[in-house]
Amino acid sequence: MIIAIDGPAGAGKSTIAKRVAKNKGFLYIDTGAMYRALTLKIIEAGIETDNLPGIIKIAQSTSIDLSTNKDGSIMVLLDGRDVSKEIREPRITALVSDISKIKEVRAVMLKLQRQFGKENSCVLDGRDIGTVVFPEAERKFYLDADINERVKRRHKEMVEAGQKVTLEGVNADLTNRDRIDSTREVAPLKKAEDAIYIDTTPMTIEQVVEKVLSYIN
Ligand code: C5P
Repeated sequence: MIIAIDGPAGAGKSTIAKRVAKNKGFLYIDTGAMYRALTLKIIEAGIETDNLPGIIKIAQSTSIDLSTNKDGSIMVLLDGRDVSKEIREPRITALVSDISKIKEVRAVMLKLQRQFGKENSCVLDGRDIGTVVFPEAERKFYLDADINERVKRRHKEMVEAGQKVTLEGVNADLTNRDRIDSTREVAPLKKAEDAIYIDTTPMTIEQVVEKVLSYIN
């Protein structure tokens, strides 16, 4: 069974997807983490964002894998190296949307994500899961929330992770990424026609999980 969860940055997708996957005993696939890992490799290789051939070459020769730790947290492996922490750094967040709008980059990720889904029952979260990666997913959700609420949530999460951020900075990042992600030519962020739309603004995590599970069960 494939469960697709899409939506803008900071809408709570990964928190909900992780809990739903745990409840159902499914694999959780954080597709944003895959784009982030590739972005890290491109930065480390010193490749500029306008060097399209260089970026494509790296995308096509990189191994990205995901696994779940015993405590439910996700381990992201970039060419076998655990980069779970690094991929959340602001330098990655600032560039990831410019990398993920490249058609050839998306083609590589699409193949990988479909492979994961073929082998397991999965909950996948991202931007194009219900529209492009798994249009035939058994359940599709589009999680949304008011921009101020999303900024508040993401800011809290980052501060708890020990990062130095301001509300203004987080607001600028979310707004910028949403703009790039929803206006790109290939697989833009949008609600699949048959996705269930949930506005999580007034809801607690538990309420959203319960609602999603009620549609799955
Ligand atoms: O989910 P997260 O915010 O970590 O995703 C980081 C970025 O990766 C997004 O802003 C988007 O540019 C890209 N992404 C994507 N398609 C997906 C998942 C993430 O383009 N399915």
